[in-house]
This record gives sequence, C-alpha cells and structure tokens, in this order.
Amino acid sequence: MDKKLYDLIDSYYEDFAAKLTRWIQVPSVKDEPAPGAPFGVECRRMYDMALEDCKAEGFVVRDFDGYALDATLPGESDEAIAVLGHLDVVPAGDAWPCDPFAAVREGDKIYGRGTSDDKGPMLCALYAMRAIKEAGVPLKKSIRMILGCDEESGWEDMDYYARHADMPEVGFSPDASFPLINTEKAMLHLIMTAPVAEDGLQVKQLFTGERMNVIPGESKALLAGGQEIADAVAAYAEKTGLPYTAEVTTDGVWVTADGIPGHSAYPEGRRNAIGMMLYLLKALGVKGAFATLADAVGMAHDGANLGCAYSDDVSGALTCNMGILHLVDGTITCTLDMRVPITADLDVLEKNALAALPGFTATLIEKKAPHHVPAESELVTALLAAYTEETGTPAQPQYTGGGTYAKVLRQGVAFGASFPDDEDLAHQAGEYVLISKMLLATKIYANALVRLAAK
Ligand SMILES: [Zn+2]
Repeated sequence: MDKKLYDLIDSYYEDFAAKLTRWIQVPSVKDEPAPGAPFGVECRRMYDMALEDCKAEGFVVRDFDGYALDATLPGESDEAIAVLGHLDVVPAGDAWPCDPFAAVREGDKIYGRGTSDDKGPMLCALYAMRAIKEAGVPLKKSIRMILGCDEESGWEDMDYYARHADMPEVGFSPDASFPLINTEKAMLHLIMTAPVAEDGLQVKQLFTGERMNVIPGESKALLAGGQEIADAVAAYAEKTGLPYTAEVTTDGVWVTADGIPGHSAYPEGRRNAIGMMLYLLKALGVKGAFATLADAVGMAHDGANLGCAYSDDVSGALTCNMGILHLVDGTITCTLDMRVPITADLDVLEKNALAALPGFTATLIEKKAPHHVPAESELVTALLAAYTEETGTPAQPQYTGGGTYAKVLRQGVAFGASFPDDEDLAHQAGEYVLISKMLLATKIYANALVRLAAK
C-alpha cells in the first residue's frame, strides 16, 4: 500500500479518538419511534451526527428517512463496493467499571458501549475512505458506506434501504472479527408444545428463558414433595458434580440449576441451565413430555439425540439450543434454535427433530438459508491479502453460527474489526477498544478498498 496512506492514517490518531468519544456519548439504544426517528430519538441523534461527519469529510451523503444513511466516495463508475455497519447499540447492562456512555479514556484505551460493536469499526471504515480521498487514489469503482440503526433488533433499517436505494452487490461488514467470515450457517427455529404428564414427579412451576437465541444461565422449578426431594437433588448434584440447589418451602421444593450463559450459536464452553434442569427432573422421576425432552435434547448441543447431528468442512458442526422452557396451565412450551451447516438439508432435519419428540406439536418460526461466498472469490482473496499484508499473519476464511449484515449483500462477508487475540467484549460490560488497533484495522480497510475499487 502507498506510504502516503499509512502516514495519513497515523496522523488521524487523536482525531479518531475525539470522534469515537463523541459517537460513544450518544446512547443509541433502540427506543419508541418518534417523528423522523423510526428507532427513537437517541438513534436519530447518532444518525444525524454520523451524517454530518460524513458530509464534513466531503462524501456524498443520502438520508433514507432515519432508517439508514449512505456516504459515497465516487469512482469512475457508479458500481460501488459496500461497507455496511450499524450505529445502534445494545443496552449497557450492569457491572461496568465506568459510565458506559462517558467514553472514559485511559491512554490508548477507550471504554464504552459501542466502541467495538460497531461504532469504532465503522469509524475505521470512514477514516479508510478519508485517507483514500486525501491521498487522491484514483478509483474505478465507488466506495459506499451504509450505516443502519436497527442491527441489534429487527434489521428494519436494511429492509428500508434495500427498498429505497440500489443495494450494491459486493462488499463487507466490519461488524465481527478478523480475518474474515465468508460462511453463515442456515437457521432452523422451532417452538414445540406438549401437555405435561399426569403421573410421575409433579412440576408445579417452571418458567425459564425469554429468548430462543440465548443459552440460559439459571433455571428454577417448583416441585411437589418435601425433604426427600431436596435430598435427592443434593445426591444428584454430588453424583454429577453440577451446581444444583434445593429449598424446601410450604409450597413444595424450589430447585435451581446454575448454568453458564451465552449465545446459542456458540455453545462451546457454556452450560445450558434448562438442559441441566431436564436431566435433574428425569433423575427425580418425571414422566411424559419432560422426560422426552431430557432424552432428545438434555444438555447436548450437537442435536445428536434429535437425529440432527451434522457437520461439513466449510461450516463446522450443527448446534442446537433450547433457550426457553415454560410450563403454563399444564402445557410445556420450548424452543429449538438450530444453526445448520450449509450443506445440510433443512427439511430432513426438521422431520428428524419432530420424529424424536413424539407427543409434541411443532410450529416453524424460521427456516433461513445459509449465506456463503466462496473462498476463491475475488472478494475473499482480496480481503485476506489485505489482512495478511498489514498484519503479517496468513489467514483462512471462517464460518459462524451467528448472523451479520454481510448477508444483505449478494456477495458480502464479515471482515473485522476485532482481532483474533482480542477479548470478545461485544454486548458485554466493560466493552473497549485500543485506538492503535483501530488504526491498524483502518489500514487493513484502506488496503482492502484500494484492492477492490482502485484502478
Ligand atoms: Zn454489531
């Protein structure tokens, strides 16, 4: 890459920190819509700030009614390389070491909700475009940054943009990690219901989980019985080495299973508290639908006992998560969230899962095809070459069970901006970035955009 680009990017250090600080100080969490602000007034305030900043850099900006904006660095042709990201953030949550929206700075480090997901990375893309513009790199294709405000919720921003603008075909989303993700698994989401059994251990209350894509960290149930149940729970905890507790009350015995929470697409190293509870109930003598769930799902996340185990070289193994288990008025309702390798047949998996759960009625919530850009495509090879040139590290494309904006583009991949050795702090307390690493990402983006768009 041209030395001029490196010098320019290095010179942006304090300017980058100042702009990131301003962006972090807007708590752009999705809220009730207001006039001109489809995702709430704070999202609109963030949107206007980004719009003004892009305009100040001399890019051609367009405002799509507060849903999504774009900023274009024009090339010879209208064909654009897209860089897609978002300005909304998830709520701050608890346990922060500092005010999550104060953008507290400690030397090279800036703390704040949105520093790594996704305001920091989008500023990297913005500064990469600025450097290319200031260095006067001649462009054959245009470069278009598209910024949405609804990535963390329903993706209404990209729906709106796709309906009102000409969506580019090729590009990347700086909303995940380096080196590059070119494969997103398919999704199969089911809600299963069944009546509770009248014989066996009686479960009086059980209501765990709110979202199907979360691995629940705790499950509580109220069971009929007394001290003998509490003793059996203690014995089972002892036998399995798993953290269960029981408390005898006048209503029955409250039992608690403590799992390790996480995202359903990444079950490795986590422990689903619902699965723990199902195993415990089975050991205590539950019958019918609860026992069926314990056998067919339990604490496994590979779908094997559902007849759904599957893996391929490109996208790894299938994962399956039960995020919700509710007992209401004698009916059990639970969810299955499967992230499916790209060569698997979704219809077959659905049929197998239903066959493994006799007595249950299934409602299909989502059946989404996978997204894949071949490793040998021009896009993937160019981006990986840019990454390797700037970091000195050889790299292979990766897969994910999660979803990114990349799939909005016919040929889109996720590319940065967190590095393989970074702590994964997206959506967590204490989210931060190092400005020096942000500038390295900026160099990678500039390198990549030159490869894709320059003459
Ligand atoms: Zn994000």
